[in-house]
Amino acid sequence: MITVVGSFNMDLVIEAPRFPTPGEAILGKNFRRACGGKGANQACAVAKLGTPAFMIGAVGQDAFGDEMLAGLKALGVNTSSVARRHDVASGTAMIVLDASGQNQIVVANGANDTLSAQDVQRCERDIRASRALLVQLETSMDSVAAALRLAHDAMILTILNPAPFAPVSDELLRLCDWVIPNENEASQLTGIAVCDLTSAAAAAQKLRDRSQANVLVTLGANGAWLATDAFTGHIPAFQVEAVDTVGAGDTFIGAFSVRVAEGADVREAARFGCAAAAIAVTRRGAQASLPSRSDVEGFLSARS
Ligand code: ADP
Repeated sequence: MITVVGSFNMDLVIEAPRFPTPGEAILGKNFRRACGGKGANQACAVAKLGTPAFMIGAVGQDAFGDEMLAGLKALGVNTSSVARRHDVASGTAMIVLDASGQNQIVVANGANDTLSAQDVQRCERDIRASRALLVQLETSMDSVAAALRLAHDAMILTILNPAPFAPVSDELLRLCDWVIPNENEASQLTGIAVCDLTSAAAAAQKLRDRSQANVLVTLGANGAWLATDAFTGHIPAFQVEAVDTVGAGDTFIGAFSVRVAEGADVREAARFGCAAAAIAVTRRGAQASLPSRSDVEGFLSARS
């Protein structure tokens, strides 16, 4: 089982020919809404790949909350410990997709901010029973810290996806076995502008020095940079026609975590993550685009 401590957000999506400039209104099309949130997406990615997923999070007592919980349950995620808040709305994300499949996102955290250290500590037994703990930065820093501390003390594999960027203390980073930022987050965490493999390698090393953790920087269509004791180097992405990159990182991290928790070699786990994410970017939506284990294995065997 993998426990995910993280966010739920209802994604409100519009497609646009390009991103508007400040103060500008432009016409888009194809409005839709989809269940998202980095935590929920990563839990779904794990469950869709066949590994039991246990979710710790908070939603409002509202229609979006009902819908998001139903979506996770339908994919087999255990949501029995997700808190319902009466006094705050479920998290909501407004997403603009441009013609090339890039995205811009604004998030109102809502109930996600109310997740407390106590909410996490109440699930101590479940965390201790897990193979790995997966956290992001879309719930309160208290909940993130409590989860990492509890899992670290219980010698459960800890994986931090420091997204969206927020300052993270060295003390917190040292509780992590893995730190997995994307290019933007790696740049902000290290002050090194990550734009190619050389800068990704430098940022990964700096982050590794700070945290002592294994580091994996995801690089969009360029794949990922892996920095560990066992292997440091580039894991290329698979060439596919991207139609929607929302949730690419979540799919990657969910899939990578599944293989790492199974004890796979780190390069193989990263390649598995790249394959899962490559499939996801060829489909629309975040949770709706997640591949199954046989999708990923079929994709990999067709390319080996
Ligand atoms: P995030 O969604 O957090 O910004 P990235 O954009 O770095 O994360 O993407 C995560 C992973 O998804 C990458 O490491 C890569 O394996 C895969 N990926 C993303 N975009 C593409 C793409 N256009 N083609 C193929 N793989 C992609």
